[in-house]
Amino acid sequence: MTAEAAFSRLLAAARGLYDATPALQGFQDWPNDLRWANRAHVPQPATAEIAAQCPKCCPASQALADALPDVFDRAEWRVTYTADEVGQDFIDRYGYFELYGPSGMYHSDQARAYVGFWGAGLVYPEHRHQAEEIYYICGGSALFDTEGQPQRRVGPGDWHEHAANQRHAMRTEDQALLTFVLWRGAGMAGLPEIAT
Ligand code: ZN
Repeated sequence: MTAEAAFSRLLAAARGLYDATPALQGFQDWPNDLRWANRAHVPQPATAEIAAQCPKCCPASQALADALPDVFDRAEWRVTYTADEVGQDFIDRYGYFELYGPSGMYHSDQARAYVGFWGAGLVYPEHRHQAEEIYYICGGSALFDTEGQPQRRVGPGDWHEHAANQRHAMRTEDQALLTFVLWRGAGMAGLPEIAT
């Protein structure tokens, strides 16, 4: 299987999740300018953990989870943070890639989507970014601490949104967490940064 074929299957699964989820549809239109970007593979240690711990997913995202193993060794994995910011254990057991977007596996100038994984028992420190964001929880659960809101537990098939520049932190519980995340608005092509 080529990388493009593996990602084509994953993209179709993501589209299936999107089509089944009004919250995602309301957040952002599915882009109509997608083109395969042929980005080079960047490995990430967490892929072994993802393969071992990929959580049981909600029915709408099971096809996405099933398509992941074929892209593990083909994705341009990103970490973004340093061990000083989030700790080495976090770096070793977390990873994400941009499925589509300004620098995605598929290029789009209209929209941005990530697939992100966190191992069990990780604390994602408070951070922020200009873009608005929706986390869809495919599998596992997390406690979200969002500026101005009570702490919220979010599990499979549910979602959580962040406004522009709203500070947020997250911790995973006793299972790994698999997410599908969309960004929109100003700063869509930017990066998150740890809040100071
Ligand atoms: Zn965020």
